[in-house]
Amino acid sequence: MAKLSNPQETIQVLQKHDFQFKKKFGQNFLIDSHVIEKIMEAAEIKKDDFVLEIGPGIGTMTQYLCEHAGQVLAVEIDSSLLPILQETLTPYDNVIVRQGDILKQDIHAIAREYNGGKPIKVVANLPYYITTPIIMGLFESHAPLANVTVMVQKEVAERMQAKPGTKEYGALSLAVQYYAKPYLAANVPPNCFMPRPTVGSAVIRLDCLERTPVEVEDERLMFRLIRASFNQRRKTLQNGIANSPELSFTKGDVAAALTNLGISETIRGEKLGLPEFAALSNELGRKAYHL
Ligand code: SAM
Repeated sequence: MAKLSNPQETIQVLQKHDFQFKKKFGQNFLIDSHVIEKIMEAAEIKKDDFVLEIGPGIGTMTQYLCEHAGQVLAVEIDSSLLPILQETLTPYDNVIVRQGDILKQDIHAIAREYNGGKPIKVVANLPYYITTPIIMGLFESHAPLANVTVMVQKEVAERMQAKPGTKEYGALSLAVQYYAKPYLAANVPPNCFMPRPTVGSAVIRLDCLERTPVEVEDERLMFRLIRASFNQRRKTLQNGIANSPELSFTKGDVAAALTNLGISETIRGEKLGLPEFAALSNELGRKAYHL
């Protein structure tokens, strides 16, 4: 069976099965072998790796994963792709295709069942409409993950890597950097996909940290504080937190906590890094606890 990673083979398979692209599933299939080679390299896939692929589409990247990895599980939501995958993956005996929504999968159970609970690798050309829920769902599952290598919108990759004080910096930067170390592997133009997306794309590898980089007593509180400060980006941190419907701290509480930490009361959230958010969360959390 010929590789699918070129426009001719892709069109042939799509026509044979009379496949119609579904916009609601974010279907932009890769048609460039160089980009897929780059993803294999970036993900550092080895023969003894178990790889979870999110959204295999017609199996273009899955074919490469089968050749590089020990075992592949590909989870695809669109049931009309299953007969196609059955055909395009025929030569490989180390792949299982599961029909389902990745957001509803138990990632822990997958690691346990297929990899004896050892860290798994995740690889995907993600459906862009649910990039953030997928990434956060993986991290928040606290399942054993070695790395997550994904194609995302270029500007999302920039936000994941952004440092405090830049315009790309926000809640996603802090959430990703709490769980992982991001590395940009490649920028990918729209002509590498069928149909072409309207935005540029990038491959980013997230190396999952064994230990979080900061000590935080209540993760949920820290992420609420982070969301509150970036929901109202132009406001001071004090106002953002005091106005949050998810939190019940007053401006005075926040001012006192910032003063205790030696941070200016008029600071904006976009200037604070993870260590400061963790310290603020611990400070405010203790106060709430003692009320
Ligand atoms: N991996 C293929 C490729 O690179 O050519 C397809 C990538 S395409 C950008 C995204 C794929 O994810 C589609 O096949 C789509 O049907 C699938 N998908 C969308 N939402 C999903 C979900 N919630 N769970 C699993 N797969 C999903």
